[in-house]
Amino acid sequence: MRKVIIAGNWKMNKTTTEAIELANGLKRELYKIDDIGIVICPPFTAIDEVAEVVYESNIGLGAQNIHWEDAGAFTGEVSAPMIKELGCVYVILGHSERRQYFHETNETVDKKLKSALKHGLTPIVCVGESLEEREGGRTFDVIRDHVTNSLEGLTPEDAKKIIIAYEPVWAIGTGKTATPEQAQEVHAFIRGLLTELFGRETAEEITIQYGGSVKPGNIVELINQKDIDGALVGGASLDVKSFSEIVKNCSRKGA
Ligand code: PEP
Repeated sequence: MRKVIIAGNWKMNKTTTEAIELANGLKRELYKIDDIGIVICPPFTAIDEVAEVVYESNIGLGAQNIHWEDAGAFTGEVSAPMIKELGCVYVILGHSERRQYFHETNETVDKKLKSALKHGLTPIVCVGESLEEREGGRTFDVIRDHVTNSLEGLTPEDAKKIIIAYEPVWAIGTGKTATPEQAQEVHAFIRGLLTELFGRETAEEITIQYGGSVKPGNIVELINQKDIDGALVGGASLDVKSFSEIVKNCSRKGA
């Protein structure tokens, strides 16, 4: 049985003071939940302080990016050992905003993935097609390209340690969610690719999250799909009530 994992990507939001407040609110709301993996990914500047808030709680901590080298002359960058020391367990890699605005490629995602695994971090690898690609009938080609090339050279043993997030770019921050059937179709395709690459047993163990305008009102029908094992949440993760409700709606314990 794959564990459902709900992760919040705070993006470039929340000062440290605001981040502490949000993390405290989530801790208060979610302390009873023990059947869902809960992850929050604050901006780098707030990780240290948020780590103190969530220490020994049921909320895991992640970063939104890393460089692939451990250290060196890479002005403005942050490495896997740096975030690991602060208490991060997860790192988001290859988010569409990084691919779009910061020229991230499958090749750099792959290098970052190797660094994350070397340092014992769980990478959340994002893949997804743009609206133009979907409308041009290229969704499955794009997903195949993202999955196979971002995971190039990974062993089945390491593949079991990663999370994939399917995030159709046209659904991110737009209020347009993929229908549960649209999302399931791509998730099943990804599971098939993972089977080709790593074998069935490994593919069945990998958590595949959906991301794109996830809200308390649409999470249940998404999570009920066979191959949807959680969510990567942007906008709705910035608010205690909405993120908590998303998590609770996936939990057998509810409120
Ligand atoms: C995201 O950026 O990962 C995301 C899914 O954003 P939103 O939930 O706001 O669409």
